[in-house]
Amino acid sequence: MSAAVCAAPGCDNAVVRRPGRRGRPPIYCSPGCRPSRRRSVLGVEAEPSEAGDVAGRDWEVRLRRGPRAVVVQRGLGRFSATALAADIQTLLTGKATS
Ligand SMILES: [Zn+2]
Repeated sequence: MSAAVCAAPGCDNAVVRRPGRRGRPPIYCSPGCRPSRRRSVLGVEAEPSEAGDVAGRDWEVRLRRGPRAVVVQRGLGRFSATALAADIQTLLTGKATS
């Protein structure tokens, strides 16, 4: 297995290439990073905030469409952030994730 970096601008996730698989090797880390999907799909993400300095409550929830993102809320704990993101995801897709 060899790893490369995702070809989408602003994304530095690793892309795992499996030898022996047929077809072109993937250059994006996920379907959401493909240019054809990237512009139109509205997604939600919960991640530790880069600016966070309060221990344990430094997560933020963002809405993202392609390279643009809007912070919905900052200063959350990890559990609150992932729960909020899941609620928003359910709202966006109309179906429960769990
Ligand atoms: Zn990517």
